[in-house]
Amino acid sequence: VGRLILILGDQLSLDIAALKSANPAHDVVVMAEVRAEGTYAPHHPQKIALVLTAMRKFAAELGAKGWQVAYTRLDDADNSHSISGELLRRAAEFSRTHVTATRPGEWRLIAALQDVPLDVTILEDDRFIASHADFDTWADGRKQLRMEWFYRDMRRKTGLLMDGDQPTGGQWNFDHDNRKRAAQDMLRPQALRFELDQVTDEVLALVETEFPDHFGRLRPFHWATDRAGALQALHHFITHSLPRFGDEQDAMLMDAPFISHSLLSPYLNIGLLSPLEVCQAAATAHQKGKAPLNAVEGFIRQIIGWREFVRGIYFHQGPDYTSRNALGHSRALPPLYWGGKTRMTCLSQSVAQTRDHAYAHHIQRLMVTGTFGLLAGIDPAHLHEWYLAVYIDAFEWVEAPNTLGMSQFADGGLLASKPYAASGAYINRMSDYCGSCAYKVAEKTGPDACPFNSLFWDFVQRHRDVLAKNPRMGQMVRTWDKMTPAHQAQVLETSTDILARLDAGKVV
Ligand code: FAD
Ligand code: SF4
Repeated sequence: VGRLILILGDQLSLDIAALKSANPAHDVVVMAEVRAEGTYAPHHPQKIALVLTAMRKFAAELGAKGWQVAYTRLDDADNSHSISGELLRRAAEFSRTHVTATRPGEWRLIAALQDVPLDVTILEDDRFIASHADFDTWADGRKQLRMEWFYRDMRRKTGLLMDGDQPTGGQWNFDHDNRKRAAQDMLRPQALRFELDQVTDEVLALVETEFPDHFGRLRPFHWATDRAGALQALHHFITHSLPRFGDEQDAMLMDAPFISHSLLSPYLNIGLLSPLEVCQAAATAHQKGKAPLNAVEGFIRQIIGWREFVRGIYFHQGPDYTSRNALGHSRALPPLYWGGKTRMTCLSQSVAQTRDHAYAHHIQRLMVTGTFGLLAGIDPAHLHEWYLAVYIDAFEWVEAPNTLGMSQFADGGLLASKPYAASGAYINRMSDYCGSCAYKVAEKTGPDACPFNSLFWDFVQRHRDVLAKNPRMGQMVRTWDKMTPAHQAQVLETSTDILARLDAGKVV
């Protein structure tokens, strides 16, 4: 007797575990566009459009390969609008009792599958380099989980950028070469933009009608929506932007939202590209002398290092990870995150890019929207909901550890060795934002002072007990202690004023 084979919207890989275990002669593939998945967080319209379009195209591909696919469209009259509901409906329709699924990337959906009153088998998602068992073996018994050590194991395991048992170039990490400022450059290669086809067009119209209130602009929509397009995007990045990736990795520019980033995260996360093929393409470019080692190593580290590491943490820590709040932050998310007015250019730029492209690069997420949230003491759960909602690549297994662990220190330092707290000087060094800001980045106190400056010291004194014990932050506490009481008072008066304005819903 055949089974139902569940394929979720981020499992669009022909070699996904559930499909590998299935038999097209007997089994029915179930795919469903359900409202619950579009609204459990108010996802950016471009994210919903990408997932639905890619699902439709993947289903058509499966059909052409001879699979029977029971596909539910969002606007089908009998759509029950939840994954569990659709499984039950298809089980009755095809007289099946057994479901095979690949493990979802979110505790919420894993629990939902376990609760379906059918015989459900959940297979491990083996599209990653480290299995859960690999990560658990690595993590258990360690006092601190540090990406760098894990990353070296992944290099050894994959053989990427290895000469025998030694790292290519004699070093594991070339980050010290990668913290450069970028300048406007008319010749900087542009990201590939894909034209709309009929399937995408139909989905865009549907998303416009069904999710009219979600934050973010749906059009223009330029993402690839199938594997062929994703491969083109990969090739374009490797050829044109990878050589500059290292140098420009941390830089932020007003008129270049993508700089030299790859824009590959959505394709990796929904299964159109595999992490290993992406890294191998980068390593080959280096071997052929087409991209420098600092760029290629930095890029590969993001994928086999950070991406695998944060996934390991998410599953190792369990479902309560998303409610961690080690610093006890409780301020509500201010409207500026949803496009409300702000005088801070760095924030207005990062949020506007997010609204227009469903994208901001890592340093904007970490050091602008993230650091501001941390310094202002915003509830990490609110930030978690925001990051999950606004980005095209947001899936909880990767978003939550980045937000709660890396950017908000809400796990108490499990993932990051120190809080990513910084004053305006960091943003000024890495961007061209401050020159056109209403605030003055060099000023520490008073109404014109860059808010990051006073909020930074407010954060240091508020959390002095935690920070004093941190080898990388202790110096900040001592610097604060050396300031005169009069200066400290001025700084705190400035920060208190900013926080009061935020709480009162006034423009900051
Ligand atoms: P590039 O800069 O070109 O990097 C190459 C690839 O490396 C990315 O495609 C991505 O797959 C991987 N990568 C890079 N950094 C990380 C990281 N820290 N963690 C995991 N993978 C990484 N990434 C997501 O995929 N989904 C998210 O929801 C997400 N939320 C984030 C929230 C916060 C607060 C922060 C600080 C980071 C978040 N990231 C997330 C990580 C990172 O910002 C994005 O992966 C990256 O910006 C995607 O753009 P890109 O493809 O152009 O990346
Ligand atoms: Fe941001 Fe401060 Fe620079 Fe303005 S001055 S852009 S608030 S860092």
